[in-house]
Amino acid sequence: MTVEVLCVGDELLRGEIVNTNLAHLAAALAGIGVPPARETCVPDDRGAIRRAAAEALERAEVVLTIGGLGPTVDDVTRPAVADLLGVPLRSDPEIAAGIVAFLRRRGVTVPEEAVRNQACLPVGADILPNENGTAPGIWCETARGRIIVLLPGPPRECCPMVDNHLLPRLRTRVPPGIPLPVTIRSCGLPESVVEQRVETALRELPGLTKAYCAEPTGVRVRIGSPAGDAAALTRAEQRIRGELGDCALPPGCPGLVHHIGDLLRRKEWRLAAAESCTGGLLGAAITACPGCSAWFAGSAVTYANDWKVAFLGVPDDILRSHGAVSAPVVESMLEGLLSRGAVQAAVAVSGIAGPAGEVPGKPVGTVFIGISLGAGNDVRRFLFPGDRDSVRVRAVGTALTLLRSALLEASAAPAPIPTPHTREPNPLRKETP
Ligand code: ATP
Repeated sequence: MTVEVLCVGDELLRGEIVNTNLAHLAAALAGIGVPPARETCVPDDRGAIRRAAAEALERAEVVLTIGGLGPTVDDVTRPAVADLLGVPLRSDPEIAAGIVAFLRRRGVTVPEEAVRNQACLPVGADILPNENGTAPGIWCETARGRIIVLLPGPPRECCPMVDNHLLPRLRTRVPPGIPLPVTIRSCGLPESVVEQRVETALRELPGLTKAYCAEPTGVRVRIGSPAGDAAALTRAEQRIRGELGDCALPPGCPGLVHHIGDLLRRKEWRLAAAESCTGGLLGAAITACPGCSAWFAGSAVTYANDWKVAFLGVPDDILRSHGAVSAPVVESMLEGLLSRGAVQAAVAVSGIAGPAGEVPGKPVGTVFIGISLGAGNDVRRFLFPGDRDSVRVRAVGTALTLLRSALLEASAAPAPIPTPHTREPNPLRKETP
């Protein structure tokens, strides 16, 4: 089954908004084995929408449009598609009543004409319910058995509609026998190394498609079998996991932070973070993981030196003699976190994100990242390339990768025999002579 997406909106073409709906929709379609073959973006123009939809319906069995279903004059996807199908638009009183009820619950009244417009469907079309807004989605089938579905633009309406109403209905049309692609997430390896290992793993398994996506926290590999060979996909996954070893996240794990959470939960540990140059990005990445309150205490954003002193107890003389971007300061940040109690794992970051702020011996991009699991600190120095944003994003990705490795090692290490007055040795501790 070939699927195409048609995005509608002047704002998208002018770069005023990012096409997050496409990212969500494309990933959802890939998940049921029908990634879009093409995406087209057109302005809010009835003729342009009609032409692009007609062309897409020549190529694809299913065309999904996004945007232009609102009540205003620039929302013209509905009439454009009705033109194309050669059917009139009819306002549905039941849909209109639903829109009025939705608006009343929010204490909003809108002109009757706007409600009537949003309740219009091409004759013969069905609706996809919209629990989060007024315009329903519209499912139309053409005389040639092709499908065109109109989705609303606002992401809070579009994405749940895709998940809850479009996918279940579309899935029933996907021909059986196409195995879903296999996704393997890795961390701690550059994309080129991941690619090399995947190539090695798949040397004797020809005919599989491979796609690599580098993310801040690792590389996502997707393997598909256009020939529908499910057994080859299973073998491919086993071999790739074998090549990647510990650098592969467990099957089904949705991301690096989720894995960190699982490792912490198993140990019944809590994590705390302290950040300087990342300014809260690390805490944001961690708290993006649902359920993290079970294992995450918080992140202290201590940007200025006096805050490092006041909130983490970093000694003033260490700051003065080594500078805020230094291994001793990051060690003190870790100790500050752990000494505040009720946390067993700590991660701290301090660096120079640029463009200014470089000091002799510490160019822009210098970042110190420290991990402690309670009985020692592992602080490492990095030099990340790129602008301020990329330095900060790389710092977060690297901090999380190091944290996961430390937790994995700690999970694999045999439990120490407890003796009075000795602390559990930290497997990360690098003893210096
Ligand atoms: P509305 O009733 O709000 O007019 P609509 O279905 O007509 O809904 P649009 O007017 O095209 O949708 O877009 C509404 C808003 O949704 C846009 O201002 C934009 O902020 C957001 N939006 C539209 N398309 C996308 C997209 N592809 N990705 C992310 N956001 C989008």
